[in-house]
Amino acid sequence: MQFKDAVGQQEVKHKMIGMVNSGRVPHAMMLLGPEGNGNLVLALALAQYIQCENKQEDDSCGVCASCTKNHKFIHPDVHFTYPVVPKKSGDPPISTDYITEWRSALAANPYMNVNEWLQSIQAENRQGNITVRECHEIIKGTSLKTYESEYKIQIIWLAEFLREAGNTLLKVIEEPPADTIFILIVENIEMVLNTIISRTQLIKANCIDDDDIRQALLKRFEMDENIARRIARIADGNFNAALAIADGQESDNDKLLHRWLVCCFNLKLKPSAGNGQNLVDWIEEFAKIGRENQKIFLKYALFFLRECALVSFTGHSEKLEGEELKFATGLSSKLDGEQFGNIATIINQLYYHIERNANPKILFMSNSFKIASVFKNEEVEIE
Ligand SMILES: [Zn+2]
Repeated sequence: MQFKDAVGQQEVKHKMIGMVNSGRVPHAMMLLGPEGNGNLVLALALAQYIQCENKQEDDSCGVCASCTKNHKFIHPDVHFTYPVVPKKSGDPPISTDYITEWRSALAANPYMNVNEWLQSIQAENRQGNITVRECHEIIKGTSLKTYESEYKIQIIWLAEFLREAGNTLLKVIEEPPADTIFILIVENIEMVLNTIISRTQLIKANCIDDDDIRQALLKRFEMDENIARRIARIADGNFNAALAIADGQESDNDKLLHRWLVCCFNLKLKPSAGNGQNLVDWIEEFAKIGRENQKIFLKYALFFLRECALVSFTGHSEKLEGEELKFATGLSSKLDGEQFGNIATIINQLYYHIERNANPKILFMSNSFKIASVFKNEEVEIE
């Protein structure tokens, strides 16, 4: 990957390029930022730049032998660690067990999130993990000579998955061999051991600007300018979400959400057999749109609720317009910020379960009643 492949993030790119060109690359850095912001792409671009045999002023050359190998994720001096699940039960897995899948996943979408990665290796409901055995592999790797570059680069994607196993790496991260560079990528810093954080140089990367996402979408897809702008608003700085929405071609999420929330609202406040049937009909229809579109719908719902909460606090939203804004304004006159937050929590849970292949009909039935309770301001149990 080259820096030009990373969407937006000019400031971070500039900082990284400056570090390399001034010969001040830290031996261990932690790249911190939210899901979908392209941290992995930035780490790959940095690794490729460090190892490029013909560095340009602001990017790797893209064509030298080293760049060619990095482009295919097969450079022998770039090592990857990422969360995995055991292939056979009881076997502590290591990252290279899944190296073929990893290279395919990177080639397909380096903006992927961890759940997408874990689903691609058939993790199903199992939690991903970076094992102590993997940490020993990392340590062993740092003690070997480099094959063809000045530096060995160890990229750890989502170091929060190290959990307590991180203790095993403390010494090597604090004082790695002179030819070793660690790049730890982290989304949730509160899940990383403090002793690891204190041994790395922190580089923060924020969400991607809406405008950068809009431009990147227009480059990749044949798409109307207004649609790109709208997708960028919903994606809210997450390019992975933007890609999913653009791929899904599902553009009626606003109407679908409107109908669902009205169903939930009527369930409690105007209960009748007809209203119950409306919900059943909606769920039947929703179950047919397929899991990927369901996920996009839920992302849209989260975006919309966030904007509703903003409308209820400030009276306006910069991201909604037309019918959406009208609906949001109507809802925010009935609900307060806390209620919007409670509905968002329910929707986050729905997303979690849908991603793990739960049955949407059962899920949406029970959760529609939960949302109805929030509308009625009843005590509602939120997982
Ligand atoms: Zn090169």
